Amino acid sequence: MGDARFDFDGETVAVTGGSSGIGRAIALAFGAAGATVLNGDVRPDPKVGDVPTHRHIREEGGDAEFLETDVSDPEQLLALADRAAELGGLDVFVNNAGVFEDVPFLGADEATLDGHYSVNVKGVYFGCQAAARHMVDGRGAIVNVASISSRVAQGGLVHYEASKGAVEMVTRGVAFELAGEGVRVNAVAPGIVPTELYEGYSERYRTEEERDELVKPIPMGRPGTPEEVADAALFLASDAAGYTTGETLFVDGGWMVI
Ligand code: NAD
Repeated sequence: MGDARFDFDGETVAVTGGSSGIGRAIALAFGAAGATVLNGDVRPDPKVGDVPTHRHIREEGGDAEFLETDVSDPEQLLALADRAAELGGLDVFVNNAGVFEDVPFLGADEATLDGHYSVNVKGVYFGCQAAARHMVDGRGAIVNVASISSRVAQGGLVHYEASKGAVEMVTRGVAFELAGEGVRVNAVAPGIVPTELYEGYSERYRTEEERDELVKPIPMGRPGTPEEVADAALFLASDAAGYTTGETLFVDGGWMVI
């Protein structure tokens, strides 16, 4: 018999940036666990191959929808949360959408910082607010996607690292404010996970030796998969994490223990 705490049957889950990579894996995992899934992304199609996430979930017998959403616009996040509520009451909101560009500190300009902050920080902040407006006085879970970059500097990424550091603190601050309202807020922090976003970064790592260099700091000696991150997100959203809030769960093959 399965564990009912990981059964999301009858629940509505909104995921931002659910068309590709980690967000897609999270959306598919919730769909497989019985949830009605709403994907809010700037594009319905995955960056690489395959059918759109909502269609994939439907083909597997589940319920899912796509709503075009740019998370840098708080109004569009509110519309996403409103639509999820219409689909049966918003239970889980995953702030996953993020952007990532490799720019050396001395070459970065105001647009570099603004571009990363408008999606990675503003998108998460107002995503939490939009979700909480439907969840207060009830039950709900918010899961934000942080990064090892929330704590570890790697070079060429100060703008991204600063934005992901902020995601961790938004998670803690919102968790504190909503703890008495029955809403838990946590973050999952992936290490290196080959996805479409990671491909830009991996241009620095074209040869096998360069790729070995990239995984060197990982005690487990390999990158993670989007599905491994999705499993952690499901745990944080589930009743199995019922007394956990304000936490950041690293899914990084042990990187943070060094
Ligand atoms: P990805 O590029 O494969 O997917 C990102 C998705 O977000 C895409 O579908 C894209 O269309 C969407 N998106 C981008 N801007 C958006 C916007 N303004 N509004 C709505 N949707 C938008 O990236 P990924 O690797 O799956 O990354 C997902 C999250 O995981 C990001 O927050 C990223 O920072 C984080 N992360 C990734 C890694 C990694 O190694 N891949 C590591 C740590 C953290």
